[in-house]
Amino acid sequence: MPELPEVETTRKGIAPRLLGHSVERVVVRDRRLRWPVPAGLETDLTGQRITAVDRRGKYLLLRTGGGTAIVHLGMSGCLRIVRDHVALKKHDHFDIRLDTGDILRFNDPRRFGCLLWTTDDPASHPLLAGLGPEPLSAEFSGAFMHARSRQRRTAIKPHLMNAGVVVGVGNIYANEALFRAGIHPQRAAGRIALGRMECLVTAVKAVLQESIHAGGTTLKDFYGSDGRPGYFRYDLRVYGRGGQPCVRCDSPIRQSVIGQRSTFHCPRCQH
Ligand code: ZN
Repeated sequence: MPELPEVETTRKGIAPRLLGHSVERVVVRDRRLRWPVPAGLETDLTGQRITAVDRRGKYLLLRTGGGTAIVHLGMSGCLRIVRDHVALKKHDHFDIRLDTGDILRFNDPRRFGCLLWTTDDPASHPLLAGLGPEPLSAEFSGAFMHARSRQRRTAIKPHLMNAGVVVGVGNIYANEALFRAGIHPQRAAGRIALGRMECLVTAVKAVLQESIHAGGTTLKDFYGSDGRPGYFRYDLRVYGRGGQPCVRCDSPIRQSVIGQRSTFHCPRCQH
C-alpha cells in the first residue's frame, strides 16, 4: 500500500510536469473509485491551470484557480506521466491531459483510490478537516505527542497510526519507529514519559525521511514508461522479521496482532 513516503515521492515525481500548465482534457473511464468521481469533474477541471501540487497526509492536492482536485492512491493506486503513444492498460481509470501533451494517468486495480473536486479550501473538506499534523512538521513534537496521549489507555502503536493524532504513520513505519525508540507497541500511550515520547517522534521523522530519500532514486520512473513507478525498499529492521534475530541483541523478533495489524517487536529491546 502506498504510504506517506511513496505519496511524497509521487508528488515530487509529477509536480514538475504539472505546475503552471493547463488541463486540456479529462477522461474518466471508471467513476467507481472509493467515492464516485463527481459527475461534473471533467467540466470543472478542464481549462484550469495547475498552480500547486501539494500533499496533506496521503492526499495529493492539485490546486487550480477554480478549485482543487483531491487524489488518493488508496491500496494499490499509482500515478504516472505518459504520452499519447502509451497504450491503455487494464485499471487505467482516469487521464488528466495537459496543454503540453503530457497525460497524468491513474491506475488502480483495487479502486480504493479517489478523485474528488472542491471549490472550498481543501483543509476544510470532510476527508481532511479532522487530520492531525504532518509528521515531518515542527508541530509534531515530543511535547505534542505527550500532551495528546495523556489519560489514553490505547496502545501506543494504534495511537501513532491514528490519522487524527498525526497523519501518515502507516503500519511499517510505526513498527520501525517503535523499535528504534525502544518502546513496546502495546504500552499504553498515556504512560509514556515526555523523554521517551521525544525519542519516538525523532524515530518517526527519521524512518519517514530515510524512506523519502530512498524514493528519490525512483523519480525518473514516473515518466515515459508504461510500467508502475518502482516503490523503493526501505531497510527494515523489525517489520516482517518475525522469528529472526534482533539486529541489536539477537533475541528472536516476536510477531503479534494489535488492532488487526501485524506487529513486530523485540521482547528485550522494547519495553
Ligand atoms: Zn533486541
